[in-house]
Amino acid sequence: MALRLDKYLTELGAGTRSEVKKQIKAGLVTVNGAVAKKPEQKVDETGDEVCLRGERLLYTAFEYYLFHKPAGCVSATQDNMHRTVMDYLSDTARGDLFPVGRLDLDTEGLLLITNDGALAHALLSPSRHVAKTYYARVQGVVDETDVNLFKNGVDIGEEKPVRPADLVILGCKADVSEITLTITEGKFHQVKRMFEAVGKKVLYLKRISMGPLVLPEDLAPGAYRKLTAEELAALK
Ligand code: URA
Repeated sequence: MALRLDKYLTELGAGTRSEVKKQIKAGLVTVNGAVAKKPEQKVDETGDEVCLRGERLLYTAFEYYLFHKPAGCVSATQDNMHRTVMDYLSDTARGDLFPVGRLDLDTEGLLLITNDGALAHALLSPSRHVAKTYYARVQGVVDETDVNLFKNGVDIGEEKPVRPADLVILGCKADVSEITLTITEGKFHQVKRMFEAVGKKVLYLKRISMGPLVLPEDLAPGAYRKLTAEELAALK
């Protein structure tokens, strides 16, 4: 497929659209050995050899990152009020990346970032029932009654009760319970609404896994890394 040289360079992380235009104007970019003059020149990403400062740029159609979303960051690519996922990626990250699904502004944890629309669609598809596990601190004593209610599917005011969910009680101190909850849907504010449905309030929420992906303990909030080949193979 042919695409504009400046778009191609931006997607590969060579810089912003205006930066790559300057690089082209400065004669730093060659296509099949010839210095490129025009940002709008068309290149074939699989056939043409594009070099920046003499270094060949290798085209990879898709990229996959595991991001530890911090609280206060919006799961979107643009926002007028808050920092977005994109603000945490390096300046040279390609421009077509987006987060797969959403976490609330105050929720932390694992977010997959990619430009692979088909994979995103498959992971978010309601019929796939991809499991997502959350760690939460909940006001009050979460007990076996809640475990059973969640196992049977609680009513959160949707058309149908939510699908059965696996609630594990980790402990309770000073009237705050620590739990993990695995759900297989992605309804708006689902975890918070499930606890509301049993009269409890989520104080802190963090996604620790999605499908085969697990949030690495050494990945700090705000940090990200490429998926490993094993993680990617397990996702597909
Ligand atoms: N459930 C919620 O309530 N919030 C999230 O961010 C994710 C799941």
